[in-house]
Parts: sequence; C-alpha cells; structure tokens
Amino acid sequence: MLYKSTRGRLKDTKSADAIKMGIATDGGLFVPQKNVKIESEILSQMMNMDYSGRASAILKPFLEDYTQKEVDECINNAYNLDKFDTKDIAPVHKLSDTAYILELWHGPTCAFKDMALQILPHLMVKAVQKTGETKEIVILVATSGDTGKAALEGFKNVKGTKIIVFYPYKGVSQIQEMQMITQEGDNVFPIAVEGNFDDAQSGVKKILTDSEFNKIMDEKGYRFSSANSINWGRLVPQIVYYFSAYADMVKNQWLKFGEEVNVAVPTGNFGNILAAFYAMKMGLPIRKLICASNENNVLTEFINTGVYNKNRIFKKTMSPSMDILISSNLERLLYELTGHDSQLITKWMKQLSSEGIYKIDESIRTKINEIFWADYSSEEDTLASIKKTYDKYGYLLDTHTAVGLNVYEKYKETTKDNTKTIIASTASPFKFNASVSRAILEIEKIEDKNEFELLHILSDESTMPIPASLKDLENKRIKHNKVCSKVEMKLQVEKILRIE
Ligand SMILES: *Cc1c(COP(=O)(O)O)cnc(C)c1O
Repeated sequence: MLYKSTRGRLKDTKSADAIKMGIATDGGLFVPQKNVKIESEILSQMMNMDYSGRASAILKPFLEDYTQKEVDECINNAYNLDKFDTKDIAPVHKLSDTAYILELWHGPTCAFKDMALQILPHLMVKAVQKTGETKEIVILVATSGDTGKAALEGFKNVKGTKIIVFYPYKGVSQIQEMQMITQEGDNVFPIAVEGNFDDAQSGVKKILTDSEFNKIMDEKGYRFSSANSINWGRLVPQIVYYFSAYADMVKNQWLKFGEEVNVAVPTGNFGNILAAFYAMKMGLPIRKLICASNENNVLTEFINTGVYNKNRIFKKTMSPSMDILISSNLERLLYELTGHDSQLITKWMKQLSSEGIYKIDESIRTKINEIFWADYSSEEDTLASIKKTYDKYGYLLDTHTAVGLNVYEKYKETTKDNTKTIIASTASPFKFNASVSRAILEIEKIEDKNEFELLHILSDESTMPIPASLKDLENKRIKHNKVCSKVEMKLQVEKILRIE
C-alpha cells in the first residue's frame, strides 16, 4: 500500500515514510492510494481472535512495507495488560437492545487516544529504522487535553525521539493538566499556550510545514513529525476497534453475522469517526455514521448545509476534547468523496485558512448525507444524558460519551431507525469527574471539592474503582511549568532543541 497527499504534490509514499513525516510537505494529509477490503471470511474469523489478532488483520494491509513480524511486535508492545486494564482492550458494553457502548478508555491515560498512541511510537521507531533515518525525530503535538498526555506517555524515553506538546493554557481540566505537568521521561516537553486548541493546532501545522525552519532543523540533525490524527499512523489503529466491536457483538449473539450497525462518535478533529468511515469502506456492515458534536457544532452545520464556517464564537464546554472549530481530518473525507480531487481540496482548504469558510458542491453534500447524520448536544442535554443513563441503567458516562449517546437518541427519535448502534465511549467518567459529579450528585456533596476529592466521591457513589493512573496523580511531583504566547511557539521549539 502506497500513500499520497490530499493536496496532490506527493504520491507513492511508503507507509513508513508517511508515518515518519506525519504531515505531507505540501500541507496535505496522507491517504491510502487504494481501498483495502476485508473479506467477510476474515471478519468471521475475527470472532475467535483476541484484540491483537484482530489488529494484525487490519493493520497489515495498510503497512505493506512492514514485515508481519514488525507489525506484530508493535501490536504486542501496545495492547497488553501492562498498558490496559482489561484483556479485551476495547470491550463492548450492552446498554439496551439498540445501544452498545464501545469502551475505548481502558489504556494508561483513561481516554481513547491511547488506542492509537500506545502503538504509534513503536510504528515510528520501526519507520525510522526502515527508512535509514539518521536524524532525531521531534514529535510536535497540539492537544485539547487528551492527545497530549497519551502522546507523552507513548513516547516517553523512546530512543531517538523528543516530544513537545502544546496545550491551551487554562483550557484543560485539572486532571489533564496534572497528567501533563507531572510527566516523567527525559525527552518530554509539555508547554501551555495562551490560546485555544485551534491556535495550538494552527501553530504546530505552521511549524511542521515551514520549509526554511525544516532546513535548519535538518542541518542540526532533527526531523519533525506529528502525533496528532493528521498522522496516518494515528488513524489506522483506530479502524481496528470498529471491527473488533462488531466481532464481539456477533460473538455475544447481540447481532447476526452480516447485520448492519450504526456507529455514533463524539467528534472533534474528525479522526475517530473517519476511522469508522474507512472501516465502512473496507466492508464492515455499517449503515450510518452519526457525527455528534457539542455546542461547537461546526460539523453539525457542515453536514446539514454543506457550509463549513469556523467564524463563530469558540465555546468552552464540559466536553473539552471536542472544543474544536477546525476539524483537520475532514480534509481526508472530502478527498475520498470527491474521487481524489486534490485541486478542489486545496481550494477549499485555502478558503478555510484565509476566510474561515467554504462551501462544498451539492453533489458532494448528497454523498455525505447518504453516509453521515449529524446533530449536537447542548450542555444541558449532556448533563441530562449522564443522569438519565445512570438512573436507568446504573452506567456512568463521561461527558464526551454522553454527547455521543444524546445525539444517537436524537437520531433514533428523528429517523425511527432501530438499527443496533455502537456508541464510541471516548473517556472514563473519572477523567471528567467534575461535570459527571454535577450531573448525578446533589450540589451539597460536591461543592468546593477539587477533582481529586471528586474521584473518591464518584467512586463511592458508583462503586466503580478509580483508575490506578488517576488515583496516584495528585501526589506526583510537578516537573513542567512553561507557558508561552501563540507567536512564541516556534521560539519554544528552538529553545528546547538549542538552535536559536
Ligand atoms: C479526542 C477526543 C474526542 C474527539 O475525537 P476526534 O478524533 O478528535 O474527533 C472525543 N472525546 C475524547 C474524550 C477525546 O479525547
């Protein structure tokens, strides 16, 4: 399998090079040049495989230039009981006859980013070896909170790499901040930026595609890459769990083999739902992809009108990992749906960066609407969903997952479609416990409590154990305290690499 850029200037790139580069040098994103098909025979065999076996079946065709042994080493280093708290890795919880919760938060940082970021460093190290790279890889990350910690954890002490993470100053939760500023490892550099996630992401993209700066880096023995979902190596591991969930549902006799499912995903940068789109293209029987947004509902509007307009007020919500107005991976979807029309994509992306708005053709919108359905959950709806689900089923949702479930319920109500639906559960309820407690507990119980006190209160109430990595967090030593302005991001990189 070879890869090409959505902006048209690069093609025939091997997967190791695409993963090593992260973003294409023309500013585009790498996509596979061909479609991968998973035959139904393989899907049916997956029922009797563990998560690693399933991952191997899905990853290998995308990583043709890796040997089977290399792929399996990466998988075994990532999806094991040292890193995940269940051998199922991504278990499915049946909530009702139609709603099935795919729990993607059993990894070390309690959010779904671990599903990809536990394996990406291994794929990256092998990519470096395979391509004969002699430079040190500098991973630049922009994060709304979860990617940053998951990437730091994945890349800590990985030989031949440094990792620099930019997160919004005062824009992440207490737990997320503590997770990042207490990060151990001698190659890790979290930095707070005075701005929001979009500012951090734009800044990082600018550095990654700054050809002059890249030349200087090259002379100094460094090469940039990305651990955001713009990197194909982030996306492909995310395809695995949709197949895995389907196999588990059939195995549990919740589903007949071949029966269609819907997939509902709480969406920010459009990475997770794009992975579901690829799963569908590969042959997984998916009827609709339900795109769930919070009050930053730029994607709801786009899918329903064909106009992408980021010129709106950025809202800080209780699902902060979805507080995003520029969803990078949409570029990949549009590229696929326009039949790989890189000129059109380049035009729209230029309009987005200069005017903050673009409009797609009716014919493309029709195609999108055949596959996607979109709506959003208000802050009030999100709290109500957590409470209702807890009262009715005794199951505790985090705020992001609640957005997904809420929008799924709106879908079901509007369309009367009773197709069984997988709802991607993207974080442990303990990770966003301030809002979760507010949804289910009386105010007297939680007033004046910080997030670490709330961990215990929530655990007592729900009788769920506090995830080990969050329990110890409060007493860890703070090791990082840098804050910079939006325009200083490049300078910070230069300082860390000592190339001013
Ligand atoms: C990153 C994240 C999302 C959004 O996922 P995208 O791939 O960016 O769409 C949703 N929920 C949580 C908890 C996340 O960390």
